[in-house]
Parts: sequence; structure tokens; C-alpha cells
Amino acid sequence: MASQRILAIDQGTTSTRAVMFSAAGEPLAASQTPLRQIYPADGWVEHDAEEIWQATLSVCRDVIAKTGGIDGVAALGITNQRETSVLWNRVTGKPVMNAIVWQDRRGAALCAALREAGHEGVIQNKTGLLIDSYFSATKVQWMLDNIPSARAAATRGELAFGTIDCFLLWRLSGGRVHATDATNASRTMLYDIHQGQWDDDLLALFAIPKSILPEVRDTAGDFGASDPALFGRTIPITALVGDQHGALVGQACFEPGMVKSTYGTGCFVLVNTGTVALPSRNRLLTTIAYRLKGETTYALEGSIFNAGTVIQWLRDNARMITSAGESEKLAAALDDTGGTGRVYFVPAFTGLGAPHWNPHARGAILSLTRDSSAAHIVRAGLESVCYQTHDLLTALRQDGIVAPPALRVDGGMIANNWLLQFLADITGIPVERPVYAETTVLGAAFLAGLGRGLFSSLDEIKAAWRLDFRAAPRMAEAQRRTLLEGWQSAVRCVMR
Ligand code: ADP
Repeated sequence: MASQRILAIDQGTTSTRAVMFSAAGEPLAASQTPLRQIYPADGWVEHDAEEIWQATLSVCRDVIAKTGGIDGVAALGITNQRETSVLWNRVTGKPVMNAIVWQDRRGAALCAALREAGHEGVIQNKTGLLIDSYFSATKVQWMLDNIPSARAAATRGELAFGTIDCFLLWRLSGGRVHATDATNASRTMLYDIHQGQWDDDLLALFAIPKSILPEVRDTAGDFGASDPALFGRTIPITALVGDQHGALVGQACFEPGMVKSTYGTGCFVLVNTGTVALPSRNRLLTTIAYRLKGETTYALEGSIFNAGTVIQWLRDNARMITSAGESEKLAAALDDTGGTGRVYFVPAFTGLGAPHWNPHARGAILSLTRDSSAAHIVRAGLESVCYQTHDLLTALRQDGIVAPPALRVDGGMIANNWLLQFLADITGIPVERPVYAETTVLGAAFLAGLGRGLFSSLDEIKAAWRLDFRAAPRMAEAQRRTLLEGWQSAVRCVMR
């Protein structure tokens, strides 16, 4: 008999991937398809849910074929772009329109009206979220209000809503299972993360009928099985998890205070807060990290809008580097000039997030001298990602997160060792890079393995996590303080 394997689907914003893992969590093969972005109007972003479904089928079939066939595929897990919303007809199986993607801002006016009407406190208390059109609620409300006859069909019980995990589960199960998991539910702005249930008051506020909502299950457990017609025989579906939450699991951050930080286009930091749902006074989000055997673990989440975008800007706009990797060589070749004469790059391309929260701020390169070169500006760009992480950790500290033992990092930027060392130096926290950096999809596989009993506990998953590189803080405290003061005065310069 073929040895047991775990199939994990990673349905992301720009691509759909499947990775086959061994039962021990070792990656065996991967397959990926890019996803078409649809921009119907300014600030609107859509995906074709049928295209997502076809891509999912095709990447799954591809990795199954590459790894010896369906025998031995013991579990299937899904991780997904969060908040993106699909509304479909339960009878025909057809989506009523394209999926509205998390980035889509068409709900912004609805959100502004809710803020104006004073609903922010109640919504934050119940959902852990700040009122924003990123979350699913206003997307669903928009569909019900703007697709002809959708509201009437919903009232007759003919429509189903789901985030991407839920839509894929429904399709994979041949329309038998309409369910999501607690992490995905926690991003809809309709779910009470403390009570663990859809909230009737919020449903009334957004005029969303309860009949369209999926059942909310544990993150790992029984989600039914795939239809035998799809892959030749059934595969038990045993985990659904939102992408950032998947990465937290893939980084084995299971103890309160453990942090994962993802450095891609933007940067997403999640801190495990255990069984406590910590409210934020710094406009960070309280979210469900995972729910296992009915027990909810919570996390605090903060994001930095511009991380990898700094490197893209240096390459594509300023043309100071020809590849992202070149940034490391340039930064490493410079003498360390300490605090004096240091160039600062504040990448506030789209404003500044936590803890500054200034949407009007714009980017700037400061403290140039006659000696400054492109290399100094490139280094300042890399440093800005680390300074912003420091600021985010300061906000987390103010919310009660003290001295994380390490920052477990992932995402495209972590190939850069110079960046990781400066990150450790400026935050004063050791930085850890795992051997397998695709932590999101690994997290889905770990959870699917847990749901199927291939892993017996989180401790077993913890033991499967492997360290590749560790950067320990080694900068003198005085230098660190001087550099941070320079950064803070640079940030003050861009505030409007
Ligand atoms: P996303 O998932 O958000 O699309 P990725 O995790 O793939 O992003 O990361 C891509 C980002 O990482 C890009 O912005 C790229 O410029 C940056 N990047 C890739 N390699 C390096 C490197 N060696 N040094 C710094 N940045 C890098």
C-alpha cells in the first residue's frame, strides 16, 4: 500500500496551488496556476469563482498524478485568501456573480455610514475587527442589494454564502457540505468570536438572512469527503483555515506570545494569545487563531501595508536594483555608519498603518548627504521594513504582548539574510527562518493531518517544524536607540 500523504490546497489572491505532503509534513510535489484579476471599476476587485474551482481541480489532479496516484492520499486541507466572498445558488450550483475580493472597496461608503452611526464599538467587541470593507459583511450586503432578485432568492433559502474555503468545500463535496471553519468565520464581521456563533444583531445590521450562512466547524476535523467522481475515489476533507492563520500553524506558534511575521508584498504579524481574546487599543485586530476540539485559541493581528513593495519600487520605479536579491548585496557591502549620516526611507506609499494610522502620509527619502548613494537608499528601504516591524511590535506591547521569544518569519523577503539580521538587531528579538518557507500551505497540511489523526497533537506538529537560519540580536543598545530615534523623526516628517 502506498504510504500516506496529505493534499493541501492554497487558494491565494494571485494563484491557486496544491502541494502534496508526506504524513510527516515533508513536501513532495507542487502545482500552481495564476489567477486572473478582474477590475470592473475603480477600487473594485473580483475573481471568477468558476475559474478558481477549475484551477483547484487541475492543480490537485496534477500533484496527485506526480506523487503516485490517489492511493494513500489520506487527508485534504484547504487554506485560502480570507474574506473574499462568493454567493451561489444551492440548486444550480452557480455563483450569482464573480467573487468579491478582500481588496475590493465597494463597501467603503456602507462602512463609513456604520462608523458615523456609532457602531464601531459594538462591532469591535463582538468580532474583534474594525469596520472595514475588507471584511465579508458589506460584500455580501452589496451582492444581495445589487444582483437582481438575489435578495428574494436568499429569502426563499435558495442562495448560499461562503468564503473561498467554503465554496471549494461545497464543490469538492459535490454540494453535500456547506460549512466553514472558525478562522474564516472570524473574518466576515458577522461572527461573534467570543460566543462562537453568527451574531443575529450583526446579521440584522447588514440585512443578511441567516439561511445563506454556512455551519461553522473546528479548524481541523470532519468536513466530509471529496466526491468520488473528482479524483477517482473519496479523500476525507479534514481542515479549512484562513491563510494567515495557516501560516501561524505552519510556524508552529502554539504557545501564547509566539509570533509569526510574513514578509511578502505587505507584512502580516500574528501573535498567539492563547485562550484570551485580547482587545486592542491600537487598532489591531483580534481574531481566531484556530479552533480545535471546540477550544478556541485567539491571536492579535497587525499589518504593514508596504514591505516587498519597497523592493519592487526600488527595482521597477527608481531602477536602483535589477533584482530583489541585489538589495542584499548592496546593503551588506556598505560600511556601518551607525546613526549619523544614515539615510531613511519611509515607504508610506499608501499611508502608514499601525501604530501611526495616517492614511494621508506619503513616502519620503530623508537625510541624504553628498556621500549618499543608491546603495544607501536601497539599504534604507530594507531597513524600513524592520523599523515598521518594530513599531508594530510596540503597538502589540501596548496591547499586552511582552517580549516574544522569537519572530518566526516567512514570505518572499526572507531569502534576504541581511534583512533578517537587521530585523533581529532593531527589534531586539531573535529571528527564525524555517527550512520550508511555504508555511501557509504547510499549516493547512498540518491541520489536515491533525484532523485525520496522522498527527496526534500540536506537540507532534511542533516537533515537525524545522529551523533553517536564526539571527540573534547583536547591535549595541545605544546604536539601536540612535537609529530608532532617526526613524521616528523621519516618520514625523511624512505625517500630514
Ligand atoms: P506575495 O505572497 O505577497 O505575492 P511573496 O511572499 O511572494 O509575496 O514575496 C514577494 C516579495 O518579496 C516581492 O515584493 C519581492 O520584491 C520580495 N523579495 C523577494 N526576494 C527578495 C530578497 N532577496 N530581498 C528582499 N526582498 C525580496
